[in-house]
Amino acid sequence: AKEPTPERITMRRYDMSQVGAAELDAALKRPSQKSSETIMNIIKPIIDDVRKNGDKAVLSYTHKFEKATSLTSPVLRAPFPQELMQLPGETIKAIDVSFENIRKFHAAQKEKPLQVETMPGVVCSRFSRPIEAVGLYVPGGTAVLPSTALMLGVPAMVAGCHNIVIASPPRADGSITPEIVYVAHKVGAESIVLAGGAQAVAAMAYGTESVSKVDKILGPGNQFVTAAKMYVSNDTNAGVSIDMPAGPSEVLVIADKDANPAFLASDLLSQAEHGVDSQVVLIAIDLNEDQLQAIEDEVHKQAMALPRVEIVRGSIAHSITVLVKTVEEAMKISNQYAPEHLILQLKDAEKVVDLVMNAGSVFIGGWTPESVGDYSAGVNHSLPTYGYAKQYSGVNLASFVKHITSSNLTAQGLRNVGEAVMQLAKVEELEAHRRAVEIRLEHMNR
Ligand code: NAD
Repeated sequence: AKEPTPERITMRRYDMSQVGAAELDAALKRPSQKSSETIMNIIKPIIDDVRKNGDKAVLSYTHKFEKATSLTSPVLRAPFPQELMQLPGETIKAIDVSFENIRKFHAAQKEKPLQVETMPGVVCSRFSRPIEAVGLYVPGGTAVLPSTALMLGVPAMVAGCHNIVIASPPRADGSITPEIVYVAHKVGAESIVLAGGAQAVAAMAYGTESVSKVDKILGPGNQFVTAAKMYVSNDTNAGVSIDMPAGPSEVLVIADKDANPAFLASDLLSQAEHGVDSQVVLIAIDLNEDQLQAIEDEVHKQAMALPRVEIVRGSIAHSITVLVKTVEEAMKISNQYAPEHLILQLKDAEKVVDLVMNAGSVFIGGWTPESVGDYSAGVNHSLPTYGYAKQYSGVNLASFVKHITSSNLTAQGLRNVGEAVMQLAKVEELEAHRRAVEIRLEHMNR
């Protein structure tokens, strides 16, 4: 491994008693992404090719991008052979513990059917049904990501989705990591698509000879994956929806005098190591120079000991520390930023949760590192980034169901509500609508 460069790894400081809101906004801008037009021009021909040539096209891109030239079929179907999920006992145990916690938390999200009598004889109901076929994208590249397979697969299983398809780019020898095969087996997936990028997304959106078409595609990925998801979800021929726009991972940590500098630094760095485009923000409430120094020393010291120190150096370069005086001031900045992960290392952290308006997932108190949420606590780690926590929820049970409503009226119910319906239909000049009520009321009066 290359020796890390020795320069100090430190976040720029912004003291809110000295800088204005505009300056802070500029500093908190997320690192910009490659233009979406450039990416669209790359992925569109790939999607068209997969639509036209199916499996053959998918395979050709896997040969090209993953160098898995020995692969002859893009799909591995259940039941998955035991020899493809051989894992050390401790890995199996870790997956099993995480699986069970994620299952429990998402099972508790099941909603009871709702029934309301809005007027005597007018009954409105709402009930949910699973989305029948879902495609779960598990990024590949160099990393092994069984946690992503769990975070998408377990809620799909709990929701009762009939067909769970997992797509993940294979390794150069054409195999898929055994951790992912094991998770696919545990969640009852029907198949694993051995492909990545736009070709995997297109195969699941339109279906091929061997890849099942799905109704919704979920999961993170690089810019090609994200652009392909956006493209297919806009194509009415595909009839497919997606979870949410995805961007690089980020964390915002709010700390006061009570926070342990070593804990703080470890939380900041566990996001910073994701990629050079990740961003981490520390909001320090009323800390003195010695306390700030202690945190900065820890960041540098811990970063230098990490295998991914050069990635950390890249992300820390566009990460900042903001100095404020009060919790309210800190929360205002946090809510405006709408972080994917929000860590509260504060004296009364639990109380501060009341002030959270925008965040993907919150980690409360010094004993709750964000990594527990990434893997095993039970909460989901597929969360809105890039400020989308203002309007999107992270992946949850509702991501895998749709809600259906029904109305059920008695004759008396129609008498009660009919007049309002007829009047509004008249205003909108939709005579057939008005008549549909009138005809029944006349029938009753006969
Ligand atoms: P990936 O699976 O997202 O993408 C691999 C695919 O990218 C390849 O199969 C190929 O089809 C496509 N691709 C690569 N170069 C291309 C090119 N020049 N033209 C067309 N297509 C090309 O794997 P990755 O690239 O390693 O990215 C992983 C992503 O997942 C990162 O962006 C990371 O931030 C994200 N991630 C998310 C989580 C999470 O939230 N759970 C965890 C880890 C990583």
